[in-house]
Amino acid sequence: MSKAFFSEYPPNLSNVNLQSLKELAIDWSLSHGLVIRPPNNLALSNNSSVMHAPISLFPSPFPKKTFYQAIELQPVFNLLFHKLSRNHEFITKVIEEVTKVDDFIDKLYKIYLKVKEEGIVQPISLGLHRSDYLLHVPQDATEANVLQVEFNTISSSFSSLSFLTGELHRYLLESTKYFNSSELLKINSLPLNDAMTSLPKGIAKAHELYGSPNAVAMMVVIGEERNAFDQRWIEYNLLNNHKVHIIRKTLAEIDQQGKLDPETRALIIDDKEISVTYFRSGYAPELHPTKKEWDARLLIERSKSIKCPTVAYQLVGTKKVQQVLAMPGVLEKASFAGLYPLDSSSEGEAAVKLAMENPERFVMKPQREGGGNNIYTKDIPPKLSEISTSDRSSYILMDLIQPPSMRNIILRQGELVEGEMISELGIYGVFIGNEDVIINEVGGHLLRTKGRETNEGGVATGFAVIDSPLLV
Ligand code: ADP
Ligand code: MG
Ligand code: MG
Repeated sequence: MSKAFFSEYPPNLSNVNLQSLKELAIDWSLSHGLVIRPPNNLALSNNSSVMHAPISLFPSPFPKKTFYQAIELQPVFNLLFHKLSRNHEFITKVIEEVTKVDDFIDKLYKIYLKVKEEGIVQPISLGLHRSDYLLHVPQDATEANVLQVEFNTISSSFSSLSFLTGELHRYLLESTKYFNSSELLKINSLPLNDAMTSLPKGIAKAHELYGSPNAVAMMVVIGEERNAFDQRWIEYNLLNNHKVHIIRKTLAEIDQQGKLDPETRALIIDDKEISVTYFRSGYAPELHPTKKEWDARLLIERSKSIKCPTVAYQLVGTKKVQQVLAMPGVLEKASFAGLYPLDSSSEGEAAVKLAMENPERFVMKPQREGGGNNIYTKDIPPKLSEISTSDRSSYILMDLIQPPSMRNIILRQGELVEGEMISELGIYGVFIGNEDVIINEVGGHLLRTKGRETNEGGVATGFAVIDSPLLV
């Protein structure tokens, strides 16, 4: 990886050309469904308006070799997490400690135990995962590698909008040549991305394996979802390419309308049998405000529908499990950054001491998903001092990855902002298995880009934009 592309990017364009790119990008996005719902203060009533998704104006340079390395890792991680989800001893050992201090994980774990005891009627599970990475250039090295930020086993989002952002960049390049402003900007350097169709294909295959042609799939959604169109594209592709219908229900609706066939434990909603239950909700405590949502979660888990994910998959997707996997002797994988427990073990005590003394080297993570939950660098010591020793074990500590930055211009709510940026690469994985592997595939990619000074990386939380890689 030469240093040069960081300094010569993005190309220098006149204001007139930038304005023209901006208008083209906005119109293309609105025309092609690269959109999100506006925040309430900007929205028309009845969910009747959209706005372009937050995007980068230029694709971001990313080292080609490293990109393909991350892709090669995906089937290995898919299989690993499937095996972990079926390893009762491992789950018990790792998760039980967290349940004592984390009510959300405790409730999930109780569902896991209850259904295990009752007997699992559906041996097949569907994984639609996303493994996220930051670039890392080791000291004295000339080439970058990737370090894993986390592995998502539930509600991995932006597969559809990610594909569309790649298509937007392709369009801008083909229609304007970006005003012949950079030698790097070549069509052949924009990799194909099948994230738009890979997730629907996985759901369709699971539906087929369920084996009831009259059944429908179900997406578990939250009531007010600004990222609804990323999800709608999955629905449309599932119907167009595979003739499988997917209904949208909230956990509260499932609680109210759902029942199990007493004999087969088939999940029935509105008199329809549910073949596949695909979660785009259920990943955070605030999505379970009442007992109803928890009852719905238990109902689904007990059912015969193929779950994406099962509670076991959700539990092994926690940060705690990722910390355990990174421990010396567990998995010798170059793709892990340093991860440490913060419990009362001797490793935990040592990690606390390290974090108090050198907080600038670390990020502290609770067992949460969805962005905006982590504690960074100088905020770590006060946090550690504030919580009790036992509560510490609901967090893990991780080395702060410091990727090389480059410049880009991002477009959000119609405004261009130029600055120093860093990018996070996500690789989607599609896995179907029981005691055997049925499907183990790579499902395309996502590149998210954010300001260098921003700690968090989520698009939905407003920190990052959707980007696409320009392989160099
Ligand atoms: P979540 O499940 O909430 O998305 P993540 O582990 O992905 O949690 O953390 C959120 C964001 O914080 C990431 O997208 C990334 O930008 C940043 N982040 C997480 N871990 C690290 C790390 N070790 N080094 C640098 N940044 C990190
Ligand atoms: Mg996550
Ligand atoms: Mg994340």
